[in-house]
Amino acid sequence: MGGKRKSQTTSPRTIQRVEVDFSAPHSSFVPKKLPAAYSFSQLSLFERCPRKYWIEYVAKIKTLQTRPLILGSAIHHGVEDGLKHLIAAQPTEVDTKKWIESADTQSPPGDCVKDYQKGLQSFSEWLPTLWEDRASEPEIATEWSFGLNRQWHSVGWTGDRLHKPPGIMLRGSIDLMAIHHFEAFAYVWDLKTGRNPYEVFPSPGIPHRQLAVYAWALFCFHPHLDTVATSFFNLMVNGEPEEGAIFDLERAMEYGRNWVEKLVRDIESRDPTKIDEWEPAENRYCGYCSFKEGCPIGKKIQRKKFVPKRWNRKDQAITDEAVKATLERLNDDMVDD
Ligand code: SF4
Repeated sequence: MGGKRKSQTTSPRTIQRVEVDFSAPHSSFVPKKLPAAYSFSQLSLFERCPRKYWIEYVAKIKTLQTRPLILGSAIHHGVEDGLKHLIAAQPTEVDTKKWIESADTQSPPGDCVKDYQKGLQSFSEWLPTLWEDRASEPEIATEWSFGLNRQWHSVGWTGDRLHKPPGIMLRGSIDLMAIHHFEAFAYVWDLKTGRNPYEVFPSPGIPHRQLAVYAWALFCFHPHLDTVATSFFNLMVNGEPEEGAIFDLERAMEYGRNWVEKLVRDIESRDPTKIDEWEPAENRYCGYCSFKEGCPIGKKIQRKKFVPKRWNRKDQAITDEAVKATLERLNDDMVDD
């Protein structure tokens, strides 16, 4: 058994200090196999820290539901619902106001509601701009799920985690896109809900890999396209999308396809049953890592008492509850094993 058990009566703060020894050789966390399919977020995590990737996607220990994750998921849910409604009808200012008013403000936890509504508001104000483009009758889709096999052919992924099509290698879901088939042109937007904006070009001249992967996926599905314009919509920061990155097929292959293939090769060259082959790599998210107590790098950061500046007491309360729930589940799993 690889983990120390917690007492049944400990408080959330005490529970937060429970250690799980992921390096124990005969731990119940020893995984059986690599994931059947990869996504952008999986690959990006592997690139940042192979150890955390192993814990989450090979050993399948769930990460904690922190405030940004809860808020992001609530806003995506609200935007998706609203967008489906608006695509089915002609959008007007009145429609978008009704949508905001009727949005389920109970979905996010109490102190997230304001941020949630702010995200919906900025999106709804921009949305009619997209609709005006319907003069050229683009195909508009939201939460468009795609699945591609190793030959980069479609395998019909619908987003249902329980029913992965055979042969699927890369899966993903595009928040919003508009394809102008006759002009051989498409727009892709990824909605972001953090307070720190995502940059379309994190390094000079190098587009964000997520946008490149999505552009590549669109070229695979629609070979008649000449150009795919991509962008982030930082809902909490700006009232409209960022200036975008433009891809032709060659550029999407260079920054999207090649990146995916390189990381998949690296992952599949490692033994999933040997944690030592998945090294921890310090990165700017270590302070937020749910597993830092079981990681040599994370433990050092823990001692510095890293606390994200923007978190207030309420945020901490949410996080403590999430910590408690997750560790209880984790310990239940250990008992089951
Ligand atoms: S604390 Fe940092 S180095 Fe350690 S597993 Fe987490 S992300 Fe990786």
